[in-house]
Amino acid sequence: MESFSCSSQLDKSVRQQYMSLPQGDKCQITYIWIDGTGEGLRNKTRTLDSEPRCIKDIPEWNFDGSSTYQAEGSNSDMYLIPVQMFRDPFTLDPNKLVLCEVLKYNRLPAETNQRASCNKVMEAVKEHCMWFGMEQEYTLLGMDGHPFSWPRQGFPGPQGPYYCGVGADNVYGRDIVECHYKACLYAGVNIYGTNAEVMPSQWEFQVGPCEGIDMGDHLWVARFLLHRVCEDFGVVATLDPKPMKGNWNGAGCHTNVSTKQMREEGGLQYIEQAIEKLAKRHEEHIQVYDPHGGQDNMRRLTGRHETSSIKDFSAGVANRGASIRVPRQVAQDRKGYFEDRRPSANCDPYAVTKAIANTCLIATEEKE
Ligand code: ADP
Ligand code: MN
Ligand code: MN
Ligand code: MN
Repeated sequence: MESFSCSSQLDKSVRQQYMSLPQGDKCQITYIWIDGTGEGLRNKTRTLDSEPRCIKDIPEWNFDGSSTYQAEGSNSDMYLIPVQMFRDPFTLDPNKLVLCEVLKYNRLPAETNQRASCNKVMEAVKEHCMWFGMEQEYTLLGMDGHPFSWPRQGFPGPQGPYYCGVGADNVYGRDIVECHYKACLYAGVNIYGTNAEVMPSQWEFQVGPCEGIDMGDHLWVARFLLHRVCEDFGVVATLDPKPMKGNWNGAGCHTNVSTKQMREEGGLQYIEQAIEKLAKRHEEHIQVYDPHGGQDNMRRLTGRHETSSIKDFSAGVANRGASIRVPRQVAQDRKGYFEDRRPSANCDPYAVTKAIANTCLIATEEKE
């Protein structure tokens, strides 16, 4: 029996009649925020009298934090502070998606608002023009929680033909990948590319290069768009770092990094300096590279399936079994960027980019 969500089966041609009605001068604004799990996304929509020109034209709002694991019922109002505006690829122009920071009743950042502190670090290192590019791996599941299109009983054939594959027997769910890609481009999300992954029904999209705080903003909105596109198809995208136990690849969020100095002639020496600093703080980074202090990544960073062991730090040119990989081309050119392969697929990009910027450019005290 196929598993499907009832709402994805509703007649979309009926919907289309209403979606094409004119809306006058009014504008629909969908506010998006990260909930109390630090992984989940929430959203709600309101009407503005005219199209906002920039983020400052969008008013603050609020929501019931006791329903998002973010506050007690007795003091539950939380503030939504708009931080970045995108075009809405679902209801189309002039409607907007607006990513928000969450503040508590006392206007301090909510526990799962990692953006506020990330932004402070990014401001402090602004002169380095730090760029990030993140590779978001994810797995498509049916409504029953089983990987999408996998046989009901048993498993698909072993890994091998699926990575960057083509053909109905090799890739499952390309519709979702292509629709998500278009949605990102329309919205203004800085999507870099996509590919099918090693495990069937596993895919990747990349966002970047993005400077500073933009990395987290764009990746979170790209994730929102992914979940929203999947909703239309009655499929679920999971960012679990190891959705299938056994001989199946896990899902990471490789983070590519460069500074202005690294990108200039002879920049390799600055890449090497950064790697030395990262080596001294391996455990601290592992702690913030998934939302559960390393617990999630423990299932993924085994030293097998193109990962390094969670216990050890390693770095190497073109080495996909290392914590840090320097792409071959970068070693040849002696300039460019490096890749931190440790972040989990469900990481908070604000926490990851903040830790990297802090370790590579701010922290000074030498740790044993
Ligand atoms: P991989 O070979 O590891 O699979 P991908 O092609 O999937 O790499 O992703 C490359 C990522 O590197 C993209 O997100 C891209 O934005 C990012 N990137 C490219 N150049 C730079 C740079 N100079 N600094 C930071 N990130 C970069
Ligand atoms: Mn990749
Ligand atoms: Mn990948
Ligand atoms: Mn990679």
